[in-house]
This record gives sequence, C-alpha cells and structure tokens, in this order.
Amino acid sequence: MQMKAALMYGPNDIRVEMTEKPACPKDGLILKIMAVGLCGSDIRNLTTDSRKGNYPFIYGHEIVGVVDETGPEETKYKVGQRLFLFPGTYCMECDSCVSGHSENCENEHVAKLAGTGGFAQYIAVGGEKIHYGGIYEIPDDVTYEAASLGEPLTSVFACLENVGVGYADTLVIIGAGPIGDFMAQIAKIRGAQKVIMIDINQHRLEMAKQFGVDEIINSSETDPIEAVKALTGGRGADKVISATPVNATQTQSIHMVRKGGIVVFFGGVPKGSMTELDCNLVHYNNIWIKGHFGASYDQSKRAFRLAIAKNFPSDKFITHILPLDKINEGISLTRTGEAIKVVLHPWD
Ligand SMILES: [Zn+2]
Ligand SMILES: [Zn+2]
Repeated sequence: MQMKAALMYGPNDIRVEMTEKPACPKDGLILKIMAVGLCGSDIRNLTTDSRKGNYPFIYGHEIVGVVDETGPEETKYKVGQRLFLFPGTYCMECDSCVSGHSENCENEHVAKLAGTGGFAQYIAVGGEKIHYGGIYEIPDDVTYEAASLGEPLTSVFACLENVGVGYADTLVIIGAGPIGDFMAQIAKIRGAQKVIMIDINQHRLEMAKQFGVDEIINSSETDPIEAVKALTGGRGADKVISATPVNATQTQSIHMVRKGGIVVFFGGVPKGSMTELDCNLVHYNNIWIKGHFGASYDQSKRAFRLAIAKNFPSDKFITHILPLDKINEGISLTRTGEAIKVVLHPWD
C-alpha cells in the first residue's frame, strides 16, 4: 500500500509524493499520523546536507496520531487509541537512567530509535519503542494539535527546571523563535520576575510579548549587552539562555549574566564550528555554563501534561495549521518569523 509523505531528496529539495506505507511490525503498531509539528531542528535538517547524501529520507518527530493497526504480538495498545510519541527512547537500566537522568541514556542503540518519519500519513512503531516507553495517551478532549506541542515543550520545560528558573529571577532569552516563546511562557509560570527577549527580527519580538516577555531588545539596532546591563541596574541577568543556532550569541551571553549567574547553551550551532569565549570573565565572575539537550522521561511526561492542560495557551503558539503538501510554505513561514509554530496535517 502507498501513503503520502514529504520526502527529502537533498538540501531544500522536499517533495510531497506517494511512497510505500510501512509494514506493521509483529510486535509493534502502525500509527495513523493526525498532526505533526514542524520543528526548528527539522528545518535545519531539511535545508542542509543533514544525511550526507543518503536520500530520500522522511523527517518529522513531533508526532501524534491514532493506532491504525497492531501486530499479532502487540498487547499494550489497541486500534483507535490516540497517542503522542516522545522521540527520545531510553533504556531505564543504565546508570544515567537509574539516576533519574534518562536524557543521558548510555544505550545509544536504544536512544537512537528517535522517531523520525513523521512527515507522512503513517509511521511504524516497533516493539522496542513500545517496550522502552515514551508513548503517552492523548485524552479525548484534547486536540491533536495541542498534543503535538508536547515534544517542543519538553526540552524547554526540562531546561528551565534543570537550571532552576524561578521566583524573582531575571532571565534573558536570546532567540525569539518558537522555543524562545515557550521559554518565556514557562519561565513566567515558574515565577520569573523579568523576562528579556533578544532577537534581530522585530516581528518575532513583538509576537513574543504575548507570552509574558517584559522587555524586548532588537540586537540589530541596539548593543544587546549594554541593553541588558541597563535593564538590570548594571548587574547582569541571573540566567541567560542562548536559544539560537548562532555562535556569536553564545559569545555574547557570558557578558549579559551577573556574577555567579548561569548561562545555558540551548541552541545547536553549525557542526564543527567553534565559539569564542572570554574565559577569564567566566573564571573571575564565577559563571556557570551549561549545555542543554532533551529531557528525561519524567520531564517529558510532565511537559506533555502541561501542553495539554486547559489553561496552557497552545492556540497562541500554533499560528498555522497547513496540509502536509504545504510543508515548504511552512518552512518559509517559520524562517521569516511570520509563523510561530506550524503544525502539518497529513490527511488534508
Ligand atoms: Zn521538535
Ligand atoms: Zn539508559
């Protein structure tokens, strides 16, 4: 049988066409994909030679859908169940997993099951994924679109929890993309006092205000380091998160944080690139620099609950719902900053 999918044939060459529908694994299931979010990392992958010539390939990891078929040996899920697939898959047996930090799972063969293949009408979910977990049921009164926010929200949720953004904090977020907007919203839920957002795109900055941002800085017009100092009485912010794919924002971030503050490198930068840092400043000012990627199962569960909570403004984040055929339009809407979050429908 055939299904519709968005196949990547090379950088910026994405074609929506018919391709072979995956077979149902004996110990797994076939999920009929009802919505799939378009992630910043998808866009980076789709517009660069991310597969080193190994094409065609189907990306997409913010997957929600309904069980369409189960294999004869699958007993956990039933046809008709609505599911969210967290792409991380952890063994729950290695030292990292047992310590509560499954995001650092040491069994890469398991972790690598990361659910790519969501820009399609169906996806096969193998028995290994079902066994190791990271699949959550979507309550009947929650839309597929809202549930799809569970994935992008997870890593932000984990980051702010891990560095303890909380009451009375002044937080600087560099990068007013969807991730930056999620950060502002969750920082406010956690009680941050002042959220300062920095970007070069004025439209994005204006949109970010609806998520609790107190101050915006357009770094194409103003020196962002001076601006942050001015907004913090010369002291610097308690925490600074670089959520862009740009090395220069990492370089700047350590000049915006107060003595003893925390800097997080959240956004991935181009492969192989190096960031210049004034390490004496880091040393003498007792600055903590932390990298962040992913989330533990526990955090992914709680972030999913937040995404589907009635009082979480998922509608404000999802600015565009497009048919899968318009994936290229979704990419450019996200790149220009016109869209915050684009969710694709494979069946429209
Ligand atoms: Zn994502
Ligand atoms: Zn593990």
